[in-house]
Order: sequence, then structure tokens, then C-alpha cells
Amino acid sequence: MQQMEVIDIKAIREQFPVLHQQVHGKPLVYLDNAATTQKPASVIEALVAYYKNDNANIHRGIHTLAERATMAFETTRDEVRQFIGARHREEVIFTRGTTEGINLIAATIGKQRVRKGDEILVSAMEHHSNMVPWQMLATEKEATLKIIPINEAGELDIQAFHSLLSEKTKIVSVVHASNALGTVNPIQHITEAAHQVGAIVVVDGAQSASHLDINVEEWKLDFFVFSGHKIYGPTGIGVMYGRKELLLEMPPYMGGGEMIGEVRYDGFTTNELPYKFEAGTPNIADTIALAESIRFINKIGKESIRAHEDDLLQYATERLLQFPEIKLIGTAKNKVSICSFIVEGVHHQDLGILLDQAGIAIRTGHHCTMPLMHRMGLKGTSRASFAIYNTREEIDALELALKKSIKMLK
Ligand code: PLP
Repeated sequence: MQQMEVIDIKAIREQFPVLHQQVHGKPLVYLDNAATTQKPASVIEALVAYYKNDNANIHRGIHTLAERATMAFETTRDEVRQFIGARHREEVIFTRGTTEGINLIAATIGKQRVRKGDEILVSAMEHHSNMVPWQMLATEKEATLKIIPINEAGELDIQAFHSLLSEKTKIVSVVHASNALGTVNPIQHITEAAHQVGAIVVVDGAQSASHLDINVEEWKLDFFVFSGHKIYGPTGIGVMYGRKELLLEMPPYMGGGEMIGEVRYDGFTTNELPYKFEAGTPNIADTIALAESIRFINKIGKESIRAHEDDLLQYATERLLQFPEIKLIGTAKNKVSICSFIVEGVHHQDLGILLDQAGIAIRTGHHCTMPLMHRMGLKGTSRASFAIYNTREEIDALELALKKSIKMLK
């Protein structure tokens, strides 16, 4: 594979201090990247450098530190704009993460657009954060939440999606890449169809932003949300992209400093975009460090990242299929590097504990997709998820530890 020769995974691993440690006396094998990715030194150093050299509140200060901090903060907005292919920098709104982004959308344009008897469409594979905010909105508005079904491979039933769409559909909110199955959904197709009935489209990009090329403008998305901590960046910072025309017509989410134009005793006017949606002192340090995580990704390139991770996914899938007692959950044709599986006769939690003893970090449980687990007749799965710094040797270590663990648990 061309890109495999070009990228030097050893050099990439060197940039991640956390990877170089032993857990229970074994070299750490970190395969829980869908939960959160590890951070390169450049991200950690950016955090420290801000607090050491530039710490100041932003936008309102005229002193040097405030100007430096503001400049660095706003530079991240430009990096994000390019990263997701947005047309305008003011379409990039900083949030705490994917969850806050979806709640913001539901509580603003959701409340504006959805009326009694209307319908909101989500898929059967949504994370709770793209399910519960819509359930809350549907209850409040006496609207109906409809579920786009999936097939046994964990792919969306596109025909069913089309038949669910109607003039009652006001919002279609779908995950780009499923955290529980790995499935990559046909976002452009969904968006085009949803727009034909006048619905707005929200895309949960929590699992896609680090793996796939994103182009919100070309794909004509209305909203795209993701979390910094899943793209090698810090926790507590995320992005909500919103199309400018929609952001202009939406009411603000939170009230307070920064989001206002003028405040009188009898009311207020809102600030211009993007500040209308960024009330209060933001998470300055983590926003500044987020730019470093984007630079880290850009330096390697999404194409090379995808090639490496696809190789790992294919290799891991082959290794797991060697086990007669293992069943893969999520076998879509188009997947990001996530391997969910169950082991016949073995509880996922017991397996997770034994793998941890071998230094291997995977995730077990319902992955915040309880309705999906219910739909698949499962209580949970074991999930190994891969990032750019993972290697085939680590998958070999997983295979070996699985062999030993299954023997002990059966
Ligand atoms: N959506 C998906 C697909 C996710 O995988 C996650 C996190 O696991 C979320 C949403 C929520 O992200 P956060 O907890 O960073 O807000």
C-alpha cells in the first residue's frame, strides 16, 4: 500500500508520550480511540505554553497578553474552517463537544422549526447524544421521533429512509460514522433527500472527523458537530458548524457576556456571528490547543491516515475472524477503523478486565447506544478502535491476549 511506506508510524508514536508506558507490567496497547484519542506532545505543549506565557481573557482586553490569547483563539477558528471545508469562519462555533453541539441545535433551531405533529428522523445507530436531545424536543413539542432502520450488517436501510421522509420531517440528524459499528453513512445522499422535503440536516461527526475528509460546504450540510478529544485534541472543546443563513435566523442558546450587542434593563440585542453562540468566557486553552491537533492531522494527511487505519481494520477483522467463538458486530462495506465483537459464552466486561491485565485497553459495554444494542439483541460488545499510531503488532498482541482470556473465561 503506497501511503503505508510513506508514513513513519514509529516517528508518529514518538510524538505521543502516553503510549510509552507499561500497564500491569505490559507495554500499553491503546485500542480505545473511539472513546478518546491520545494527544501528541504539540497539543500538550500548546496547553502549557498558553498558561505559562499568554493566559488572559480574550476579545475584550487591549493589553498584549489579551491580544496574543485572542489571536491564538481565533486562529483555531480559521484552522477549523479549513479542516471541515466551511465557507465562512463565523460558521464555526466553539462548544464543549459533540453533545453540547447537538443540544444547542435542538434547543434553538429545533424549537423554532418543530411544531406539534411534526417529525424528527434519526437512525437506529445513534449515540445517546444524538437521540436524547431529540427525544426531549419531540416530547416538548408533541412531535414524533422516527427511527431509520438498519440491516443486519449495521448499514442504514436507505429505502426505508426515503419512505420515512415527508413534508412533516423537519430535522434529519444522523451519525456520519457509528461509534458502535464503525458504519460510515451516505451523508451526501441523506442530505440531498432531506433537503427535498425542506428538512434541515444535522450530522454527528464525532467519529468521522479524525478519519474522513469533511467538506460541509460541498456536501451542503446544515450542521456538523464534533469533539476535539476524538481528533487528538483536548477534552472540553468541540465544534458546531452551522450554515450562516441558519445561524443568523436562530435564537441564541445561552445568555451572558460576549453573546450580546447591547443590554438594557428591558432587553438585549445579540452579538454578530459567531459570538452570538459563544456566551461567557470560553475554553481558551483547549481551543488554542485544538489547532495543534488539526495541524497534526493535516501534516500526515487524511488520505494517509485512512490508508493506515483501513489496513489495521482489515488486519484486525481477519485476525478476529480466526476465532470460531467471535462474532463481529457491524460488517458494513464502508467502515471507519472500529471493530465491535461479541465472544460466545463470555461476558464483554470480564473480557475487558482480562485484556487490561495484558496491557490492552479496549472498550466494553453499550457504547452509549442502548437502543442499538437492544435492536441487535445484545447487552453490549467489546470494541477495539484504531488510530494513526496503532500498529499490526498491537493487533497481534490483542489476538494473543484474546486467545488466553477466552481460554480462561470459557
Ligand atoms: N456521537 C458519537 C458517534 C460518539 O461516538 C460520541 C462519543 O463517544 C458522541 C457523539 C459524544 O461525544 P462527546 O462525549 O465528546 O460530546
